[in-house]
Amino acid sequence: MAQGKTAKGTAIKQIEMRRCVVCRQVRHKSELLRVVKSGVEISFDETGKAPGRGAYVCKSSICAASLKKRRNLDKIFKVRLPNEFYDKICAAVE
Ligand SMILES: [Zn+2]
Repeated sequence: MAQGKTAKGTAIKQIEMRRCVVCRQVRHKSELLRVVKSGVEISFDETGKAPGRGAYVCKSSICAASLKKRRNLDKIFKVRLPNEFYDKICAAVE
């Protein structure tokens, strides 16, 4: 009786988990907002498919507010982002 194979694995899609740069919690991609740097351009990536270096933050006003306060993205992307950019993140998660 050979039972080498099971149905396991066939129905399991790769779960895309990412870590929030603010609270360090690992969450599903759909619960996170992706900010992507492509060249000198930094923008939100609503599709989750834009090329470039990405950073994730929870879609929560707490994490967005804390992100704005600590300016985590400046360090991650090694640029000085305008306050308006952080404001936009806060607005986007509300
Ligand atoms: Zn978070």
